[in-house]
Amino acid sequence: MNLRSPESFWLLKNGILHSYPSLQENIECDIAVIGSGITGALISHTLHNAGFRTVVIDKRDVATGSSSATTSMLQYEIDVPMHKLAEMIGEQGAIECYRAGIQSISTLESLVKKEHIDTGFERKTSLQVAHSRKAIDDLKKEYLYREKHGFHVEWLTPEEIKSRYHMTSHPGILSEEGASIDAFKTAHELIKKNHDSGMRVFDHTSVEKFSYGVDGVEMITEEGFTISCKKIIYCSGFETLKMFKQKYADVISTFACVSEEDFNLYPLLKDVLIWDTAEPYIYMRTTDDKRLLVGGEDIPHKYNGISEKIKSKKTARLNRKIEDLFPTLRFTEDYSWAGAFGVTKDGLPYIGEHPDFPNAIFVLGLGGNGITFSVQGMDLVLKILAGETDPLLHYYRFDR
Ligand SMILES: Cc1cc2nc3c(=O)[nH]c(=O)nc-3n(C[C@H](O)[C@H](O)[C@H](O)COP(=O)(O)OP(=O)(O)OC[C@H]3O[C@@H](n4cnc5c(N)ncnc54)[C@H](O)[C@@H]3O)c2cc1C
Repeated sequence: MNLRSPESFWLLKNGILHSYPSLQENIECDIAVIGSGITGALISHTLHNAGFRTVVIDKRDVATGSSSATTSMLQYEIDVPMHKLAEMIGEQGAIECYRAGIQSISTLESLVKKEHIDTGFERKTSLQVAHSRKAIDDLKKEYLYREKHGFHVEWLTPEEIKSRYHMTSHPGILSEEGASIDAFKTAHELIKKNHDSGMRVFDHTSVEKFSYGVDGVEMITEEGFTISCKKIIYCSGFETLKMFKQKYADVISTFACVSEEDFNLYPLLKDVLIWDTAEPYIYMRTTDDKRLLVGGEDIPHKYNGISEKIKSKKTARLNRKIEDLFPTLRFTEDYSWAGAFGVTKDGLPYIGEHPDFPNAIFVLGLGGNGITFSVQGMDLVLKILAGETDPLLHYYRFDR
């Protein structure tokens, strides 16, 4: 399966930071984490530090799935506006899910500071603008709804947006809480740190057979070695969706490109994440090496890969949209790529157990907010293992 087309910016920028051996013996552990992207890195960090004998397995190099292609905007606003989510899961649920997003940005910030890892984490505001005149009323409704429930939001007029960001657009909501990070580097550095303190990691190790028993799970790798564990945690991204009889999410390919370094509006845009209300929406942010990173133009995922022709067409459209939004911006594309992610109808992830897979826990941080959902998974997994509940587990369950 082709996750990226061709290589993403983060992989080119950082390279394969750390490599691990493939599994060449039979092993046993308390918990096997399948997947070494940002989700696997965060979940294995939590488990290893909670004292579980944890093993991380990935069939590819570390973090070379969606986590190497991501734009890594950390926003509490999910793809479904809060007032619409309230219609789907109730007002209380929408408030709790949105607040959990804010909390997860702080949790990630504290984690990377505490672990002293270089991740490019930067606090930012988040600006969502109406993509058309028709979309303004609905966005205003969302603004009033969030303000009523105590979220720190500001309504910006086109004039204010122009003066702050040199951007030509309809009005928008500015939220205080947001951030960005290099998810690829974060995953690598976190896994390396835990590996250095005894966590076992095996890359290029593909598991072919899984037997789910009453007391644990046994797996057999492509090379015939056995991994026996009490619990398995699937942090295997959108590819996990193939395991289920039910269709829980759509898989989408999205396109992204970065400008050359030192583009001229960097000082104005460096502290803000920008996206709009279109479906699919355009999203952008600056990087810590002074580029503008822009994404969007989503299409249904093609499992046989994305052609160079489609990628060029899509990123040319992104370039034109940027020119329309920022008439004074000098945007010269340096790299472009495509990546895939799963999208759920309510914008929420799937985190929890599934009746068809005893002794397995799934942390599927799907959607455009996959990273903040994965952060929430850290605490939720510990709660599931301890037999505790949490309101979020109700909203993120499979049978919702
Ligand atoms: C272009 C793009 C932009 C995005 N923008 C944002 C954004 O701004 N903000 C945000 O929060 N999210 C964003 N996302 C989504 C976010 O990137 C993902 O939610 C996140 O990276 C998923 O991380 P993961 O670790 O769960 O999955 P992945 O990074 O895909 O990692 C899964 C790993 O599991 C491994 N694996 C799979 N199956 C097996 C198996 N059977 N055996 C062994 N290993 C296996 C894979 O090799 C892979 O390394 C974006 C995604 C893309 C593609």
